[in-house]
Amino acid sequence: MSEMIKFNVPPYAEKAMDYIVECVKNQKICGDGAYTKKCSEWIEKQTGTAKCLLTTSCTHATELAALLADIKPGDEIIMPAYTFVSTADAFVLRGAVPVFVDIRPDTMNLDEKRIEDAVTERTRAIVPVHYAGIACEMDAIMEIADRHGLVVIEDAAQGIMSSYKGKALGTIGDFGCFSFHETKNYSMGEGGALLIRDQKNVENAEIIREKGTNRSKFFRGQIDKYTWVNYGSSYLPSDMNAAYLYAQLEIADQINRSRLALWDRYYKNLEPLQKAGKLELPVVPEGCVHNAHMFYVKTADLKERTDFIDYLKGKGIMSVFHYIPLHTAPAGKRFGRFHGEDRYTTKESERLARLPMYYGLKEEQVDQICETIAAFYGE
Ligand SMILES: *Cc1c(COP(=O)(O)O)cnc(C)c1O
Repeated sequence: MSEMIKFNVPPYAEKAMDYIVECVKNQKICGDGAYTKKCSEWIEKQTGTAKCLLTTSCTHATELAALLADIKPGDEIIMPAYTFVSTADAFVLRGAVPVFVDIRPDTMNLDEKRIEDAVTERTRAIVPVHYAGIACEMDAIMEIADRHGLVVIEDAAQGIMSSYKGKALGTIGDFGCFSFHETKNYSMGEGGALLIRDQKNVENAEIIREKGTNRSKFFRGQIDKYTWVNYGSSYLPSDMNAAYLYAQLEIADQINRSRLALWDRYYKNLEPLQKAGKLELPVVPEGCVHNAHMFYVKTADLKERTDFIDYLKGKGIMSVFHYIPLHTAPAGKRFGRFHGEDRYTTKESERLARLPMYYGLKEEQVDQICETIAAFYGE
């Protein structure tokens, strides 16, 4: 039997080793060093955001955004239930109530047509999640937010290098959150970034990220001593982690092209099965440029998905499913509520299986995976 095909391999760029060694030799391993600066500037240039702050995770970037948006106990936050727990956690920590709205079955994103009905006097924010790096319908979402005076915080954990009508994901709402976890397209082990659209929020963001101090201003030489000026926490990563990430950002286009080629190959190979009505493939709406964060298929139902994953595993191919919709989880029931009917969230989540996708996966392996899937469907 051929070698096992892993579901994920963390991205790595060769220069990382030199950069990390440089941090260690120079004894510059704490936060906000040279590599943190290089990464933030790279992200600012690539996305066009006013400001990017590197953080210890996307979860922390979202927490920082919740603090900046001044989310208070009892505030309601509209989000999908088909997402990772962090999307809700960041707001639950502030005492807010996640209000889950159904998703669209084509993109698995928040259904923009169901948002407005969930808005109440207590609604403060909308948190669209760009699933698989494919954009939510942001024009409609921003229009609803404007009309009701709501903050928009984009969970763009999976969305770096993707865009919506020419705008980088994470730059459209007031705040955008990226993840550099090892399962994402670019990684620093654990890490993330907060993108800030408006200059007016930058100073406070720097303060909250630095334990409520004005240390960032001090480092820039704008003041001669720093002090405690607001509440805050510690959201800055070690420069060693940033060094690991920067090596990948330098070859970001190469990584992106390589992932997109794998994604296209999966699509082309599996299209006949979709045409034959055996399974469904991802949908990329017009105006969305994606980053091949993920390749998934949808089986007929939960039973078929279990058999599908088991069958692939038996052939040495690791595929996985996610997420258990948050409103059905113990904490989701305790802290949040689902508004309207769950027409697609649960049903579609039970059909979805993710296939191996990482920088370095080989085209022959994609072919092998697709042949195995065809065999599962008796083709
Ligand atoms: C990965 C992910 C997160 C969390 O990212 P961390 O960097 O691990 O905190 C949040 N939301 C979504 C949609 C994700 O995929």
